[in-house]
Order: sequence, then structure tokens, then C-alpha cells
Amino acid sequence: MIILKTVSELRIWRDSLADNLGLVPTMGSLHAGHLALVERAAVECENVLVTIFVNPTQFNNPADFDSYPRDKEQDIKLLSELGVNAIFIPDEAEIYPAGECTTVSVSGLGSLWEGAHRPGHFEGVATVVAKLFNLTNADRAYFGEKDYQQLQIVRRMVIDLLLPVEIVACPIVRAHDGLALSSRNALLDDRSREMAKDLIHSLERVQHDIKAGRAADTAIAEQQTKLNDGGWEVDYLALVDDSTLCPISAMRPGARLIIAASIGGVRLIDNIWAE
Ligand code: AMP
Repeated sequence: MIILKTVSELRIWRDSLADNLGLVPTMGSLHAGHLALVERAAVECENVLVTIFVNPTQFNNPADFDSYPRDKEQDIKLLSELGVNAIFIPDEAEIYPAGECTTVSVSGLGSLWEGAHRPGHFEGVATVVAKLFNLTNADRAYFGEKDYQQLQIVRRMVIDLLLPVEIVACPIVRAHDGLALSSRNALLDDRSREMAKDLIHSLERVQHDIKAGRAADTAIAEQQTKLNDGGWEVDYLALVDDSTLCPISAMRPGARLIIAASIGGVRLIDNIWAE
């Protein structure tokens, strides 16, 4: 496994490959959710490149960027055990040349939900992902459904910018109690970690209620109140169309339930199919 630190090292390595390339973009602090993406890429692609870059432009809050978990040594160790061909760990200056003034913005989709609560977040995501696609010329890129809105934004960007990369969506990997794995889970204190399973339980309760014939907005309001009363701060809990992410009032094929809420100062997101 080769460790690439600069854009020019990455370009030279890419040019040396005869076969196809699978890309797994991450911000590091890897867990089993990331590793599932890597394992799938290793099965489907001749070469696998994992990128580790805590992208500053997608953090609307500097304190959040500073406290984001980082564990480079452990990440390298985990990836070396999985048959990854290369890791790209660039410095910020490699990705953002001095004086940079070009960004990628996915309008509409990018301003809903996470976009509304974290202004500039998806512009940062779309810009860095577009750069990684340009740099790597990957044949396939692997993204988790955990960040469902991000996945739809990347798909939209690929269609709109005519990028020659296939986006592969991978299911959410969860802890034993149902909590979606996330690098941010490491920031939860014991009490918050214990409560964190409430998030998936709320989604499943709404799913169950809608299936049982209750109005979606009533079922959603009930769970939202329950979470807020239990010490959570809910940013949103919604039933949405799976590709536009627009809110919908009744179940339909492909409907998705999405949630974002904070517990003990840690903001978590999750989603499930509504059906
Ligand atoms: P991050 O390092 O948080 O930027 O995530 C890198 C990639 O891993 C993204 O495509 C995420 O959606 C994906 N990912 C993160 N957590 C999970 C999980 N629990 N299950 C599946 N994919 C995940």
C-alpha cells in the first residue's frame, strides 16, 4: 500500500495503473462503515484508492472542524489490512491552491435539510468531491447511504457536470443497538451514547406508524416531541422523496425518513427507507 501526499504523486500513481480504479473518499477516523465501502470497492475494482482529508470547507463551524476525530496511524493500519492499493492524505494547500475562487454548488437539493442547518456545507462537499473525481479519474466511487443527502448531491453533480464516474451507494452499517456508525460517535459521552439509539428507534416508530395508516405528519410530530422532551435537540425529522429530498405528506415508493438531532452537544444524522 502506497501513501500519496501530493497531487503530483497522485497523478503519477494514477497514470501508472493499467486497470480500473475504485475511489473511497473519507475524512478518516475510520470505522466499520467506512471499511464496508472499502471492502466493496476491493471486490468490484482492480485498484482501490482511499482518500483521507478532513475537508475544512464543509465545516460551517470552526469548533466542529477542530474537534472532528482524527487518527491517521490507526487509519493507515486498518487500510493496510484490507488490500487497499493507495491512500491519498493531502495537506489543505494541495487541495485548495492559494487564491482559489472556484466552487461547485448544487442548487435546490443543496439548500435543503443539512444545507439549511449547515450553510455552505454541501458547497464544500461538492467542491472537494469534484476535485477528487478530477484528480483520480476513478471509474467508480463509493459513498454510504448514512449521508443520504450527500449521496444524492454527488449523484446530481455527476449527472450535471457529465463526470465519467459511476456512483456506488452502500448500505448503512450500524452498531449492535442500531446507532449508525459515525466518526462523531467517538465524541459522545457515556450517557449520550446510551441515548443515541433513540434516533433510529424514532425513525422506526414513524415508519411503523405510517405503515399502520397514521398520517405521516402526526407520527413525525409525536416522535419529534418525544425526542425533544428526552433531551435531544431535533433539527429535522421528515418524510422525503428519495431523489429530490423534497418533503412529502404520504408514503410513496422510494420515500425516505431522515433525521438530524443533537445529544450532549454532538449532532447526529440518520435515515431509513420509509417502506
Ligand atoms: P466521512 O468520513 O464521514 O466523510 O464518510 C466517508 C464515507 O463513508 C461517506 O460516503 C459516508 O456516507 C460513509 N459512511 C460513514 N458512516 C457510514 C456508515 N455507518 N455506514 C455506511 N457508510 C458510512
